[in-house]
Amino acid sequence: MMSHETTTLTIPKPQIFTQPLKLLIDGDWVDGSGDALDIHDPSTGQVISTFTGASADDVDRAVRAASRALEGEWSTMPPSVRGRLLWRLADALEEHLEEFAQLESLNTGKPLRVTRSFEIPQAIDILRYNAGWATKLNGETRDVSLPGEWHTYTMRRPLGVAGLIVPWNNPLVMAVAKLAPALAAGCTVVLKPAELTPVTAARLGELVCDLGFPAGVINIVPGLGTVAGEAIATHPLVDKVSFTGSTAVGQHLQRTTAASLKRLSLELGGKSPVLIFADADLDRAIDSAALSIFSNSGQICAAGSRLYVQSSVADRVIDGISERAKALSLGGGLEEGTTMGPLISARQRERVLRYIGEGLEQGAELAAGGFAPDRPGFFVQPTVLTNAAPGMSVVAEEIFGPVLVTQTFDDPEELDAIVGRANNSVYGLSAYVWTRDLARAHRIARRLAAGNVRVNTHSGMDPNMPFGGVKASGYGKENGREGVEAYTELTSVAMNIGA
Ligand code: NAD
Repeated sequence: MMSHETTTLTIPKPQIFTQPLKLLIDGDWVDGSGDALDIHDPSTGQVISTFTGASADDVDRAVRAASRALEGEWSTMPPSVRGRLLWRLADALEEHLEEFAQLESLNTGKPLRVTRSFEIPQAIDILRYNAGWATKLNGETRDVSLPGEWHTYTMRRPLGVAGLIVPWNNPLVMAVAKLAPALAAGCTVVLKPAELTPVTAARLGELVCDLGFPAGVINIVPGLGTVAGEAIATHPLVDKVSFTGSTAVGQHLQRTTAASLKRLSLELGGKSPVLIFADADLDRAIDSAALSIFSNSGQICAAGSRLYVQSSVADRVIDGISERAKALSLGGGLEEGTTMGPLISARQRERVLRYIGEGLEQGAELAAGGFAPDRPGFFVQPTVLTNAAPGMSVVAEEIFGPVLVTQTFDDPEELDAIVGRANNSVYGLSAYVWTRDLARAHRIARRLAAGNVRVNTHSGMDPNMPFGGVKASGYGKENGREGVEAYTELTSVAMNIGA
């Protein structure tokens, strides 16, 4: 294991950096037996830790432990106690907020300001929100029209062992967004963090061990997707796979889980349109559009990455977003003053630069950025491309980086044509509309092929707001009642009580 000079944690170094990271299986911390994996600081490109990831055998032991735990104390634990455990986990996370914020910033390069005041608090909120659901997962009585007398009702039961596979772009939030509803519903879990970002999930595992969750209820198996992820998806004792990641892997999981018919929910990629009409509050729209694409260096599934702006205000809007791009201060997550961090890996940086190059070759023009700064780490300047057209790869494909492609429309009354262009994508995750005309906003919201429509904002994420995509952005919802019910099975009971 290596350490390096530029790590500027102000917290005591957690075990993860003093001993190789381990796997949490059946309440014990064990060494992985899979692949040797490096953890990088993406701000410098240096290796900050190494560990041995989970093998298929490790996953098998974790799944069996989760399966046994389903039969044990967990199954008879009153829902209120499950809720209390989740609440305790939220309290523990809150007590360690600064530590988690620093670890997440170190491992992902996100500005500390973001992890400290937004992401870790968001994970805490998600835990508390779902703690409340543990006691509210009811069935209902139904009236039927059968002859005779009947007592008929439905009931919700936990689906069983949930395999949770998460990506690297929001490691802790994504892990908790799956873990919390699964546990609230009474499932047991095997969580696989992304191989690039296992740090906060492992630390969360350490907190979990002290809180009173029975052994085997929560298992954490960082490792390669093609090894540990694949082993989860194909394991016969896994009842549900909840996956967030790329559309290609989501499609692969549809095939691998088909034979067993296990439940599957897929939160996949996006290429979300932003529609700005001339009547909008343009200052807010400009700020918001810039935040939507440049936050997390564009590595957000719901990033507003395709801008359609009314031509009468196009110069003002595109210039405004470009100015904001140029004003961002690139730096490491733990560096003072950073407003945009690096991409997660050298591979991701090359991918983003390749797309920018293709866009320019195909006729797009640069209004901002377009290159990698001359410094260590995986940085790309926030980039705005004008002159974009539908056939270009930068318009059609998810780049997952800080790259906005802009196009214009002339007549704001041609809603079908404007919405048609917005919907002209294989993806359908989020869509953003900026206008002061309420009727227009509602008419557009009904027509957009997107799971999440936002009007005059780029945010609107709340644990009570269902989130998920349509088309190649996947299916299934996270958050809200729908998010927790996705970890339950609805059973109907019909009893003939006639004499
Ligand atoms: P990815 O699909 O490569 O990996 C995601 C996770 O799946 C990782 O844990 C990885 O190890 C695992 N994995 C990879 N191959 C696997 C396999 N064969 N079987 C099982 N698991 C496997 O995606 P990524 O590059 O880590 O993340 C970026 C993608 O995630 C983008 O497309 C982005 O849009 C998407 N994403 C979607 C949402 C959403 O809510 N819709 C949120 C965040 C990210």
